[in-house]
Amino acid sequence: MKRRTFLLGSVSGLGLVALTACVTPTPRPSASVTPKPTSTPSLVPKPAAMRRTSWSADPFARGSFSYPAVGATPEQRAALGQPVDDRLFFAGEATSTDAPGTVQGARDSGKRAARDVLAAASLGERIAVIGAGIAGLTAARDLQDAGFDVFLVEARDRIGGRIDTVTDKDWPFPIELGAAFVRRTGQTTLDEDLTDRGVATAPFTDPPEVRTAAGTVVEVPDTGAQAVATALAWAAEQPTDVSIAQSLADSGASKLSTTDADTGVSDADWLDYQITVVLDPLAGGPVPEQSSWYSDANPQADPDTDPGEDRIVLGGFATLLTDLSDGIDMLGSSVVTKIAYSEAGTSLRLGTGESLSADRVVVTVPLGVLKTTVMEFDPPLPFTHRGAISALGMGTLDKIWLQFDKPFWDTDAPLWSTVGGDDDFRVWINMVPLTGEPVLVGLVAAETALRLAEVDDDEFLAAALSSLEPFYSAVPTDNPTTE
Ligand SMILES: Cc1cc2nc3c(=O)[nH]c(=O)nc-3n(C[C@H](O)[C@H](O)[C@H](O)COP(=O)(O)OP(=O)(O)OC[C@H]3O[C@@H](n4cnc5c(N)ncnc54)[C@H](O)[C@@H]3O)c2cc1C
Repeated sequence: MKRRTFLLGSVSGLGLVALTACVTPTPRPSASVTPKPTSTPSLVPKPAAMRRTSWSADPFARGSFSYPAVGATPEQRAALGQPVDDRLFFAGEATSTDAPGTVQGARDSGKRAARDVLAAASLGERIAVIGAGIAGLTAARDLQDAGFDVFLVEARDRIGGRIDTVTDKDWPFPIELGAAFVRRTGQTTLDEDLTDRGVATAPFTDPPEVRTAAGTVVEVPDTGAQAVATALAWAAEQPTDVSIAQSLADSGASKLSTTDADTGVSDADWLDYQITVVLDPLAGGPVPEQSSWYSDANPQADPDTDPGEDRIVLGGFATLLTDLSDGIDMLGSSVVTKIAYSEAGTSLRLGTGESLSADRVVVTVPLGVLKTTVMEFDPPLPFTHRGAISALGMGTLDKIWLQFDKPFWDTDAPLWSTVGGDDDFRVWINMVPLTGEPVLVGLVAAETALRLAEVDDDEFLAAALSSLEPFYSAVPTDNPTTE
């Protein structure tokens, strides 16, 4: 059974997974578990350890990263980053116009917000920074170094936000539940900063090895990419922005043959591949909600983009945060529920009922949180801010980390994907060539990620193991590095 009847194209390597990434009331994704037997029989052996994420259910993220939803404009990101009455200042990946949805964009936004505060405030003033992700930590560091009295308020019991490195005895190397890649755009210094701190990174640019549900390795034709390009070119001529789904349908680009070729894959399957393996993970939002005009898949959206070289972080992304947080006053496990601001200053109310005052506040909570009513602003934010919050999309990318006793697969490719089947996890990262360890990372995005966020760990694992069947080999390659 094929996934989409609605048919609505190849970014190589990590264009698809890196960049661009739901809590029941638990603030963190689930802890490592020793998996119980699942009801779905699979040839794929049970892993020795697993770890999953549910970013859309995380009350302090409500999604993985922002994306261009239909109707939203890049100018709205800039509007969201504008100070309000020189009392409230905004940072976070969603306010970045150059690199939204990324660690680089979030860090740059923290620096920009600190400059905005410097321009409005007198030295020595008390500044509250809400959120200890990379945007908040960067703003706090710059402001404290400039001579302000800074304190950070963070809802979680850890720093880093959507940078979430797990280093524990269950795993042979630090695993990344949130950001894991540095995209080398020509502007980023993140990889140098990581290298300076002794954190290993590795190039990650190979195109994926693509398999059918039957396990046959196939070449990716340009059918899907071409259909999307045709649809986006059509959309560019329309008077208003429409979703990618609509542009595929209305332009006629999705009218593709559903007849299987010898490989068992039809043209329509290749369009489905372009959607589920490229567009979904890139934005995290469903194609019926992704903007055609501002899609990252649209070469016209930013013709100056240098695709550069993507790198995967192997030695702990969170190391980047250590110097930033050094010596900064922080109130952890403290949820801000209300920010009142006036000419006289600002006051914060915490979930405990406690109140704190500051001259100015830097707000760095994720767009997904701003979209909820958890944090009240008094007076309400200006229309420009509310308009941006409501228009921009918050996408979802989730991961499953699986550690096996030994490899059951017969390929050394670092990136895998599947076409034509009905599996939930369509993209996999093979850590063997990168670390020598039999560890796989599965990715799931958009509607599928939202659906799987609702299921328990056993069902999540069963979906992942069944998605791995095209890579199962009764005679795995001998890999000396994993012996
Ligand atoms: C699965 C996944 C994969 C990703 N992959 C990549 C990648 O490979 N490369 C890349 O560059 N980017 C990636 N990203 C995006 C990247 O992680 C983010 O863009 C970046 O970390 C955001 O930083 P931030 O400081 O803006 O927000 P956050 O890191 O989310 O920080 C905001 C902080 O605010 C806190 N907070 C929320 N609500 C409250 C409240 N009410 N009171 C107090 N504190 C609050 C949160 O706990 C959090 O610590 C990925 C994200 C995810 C989830």
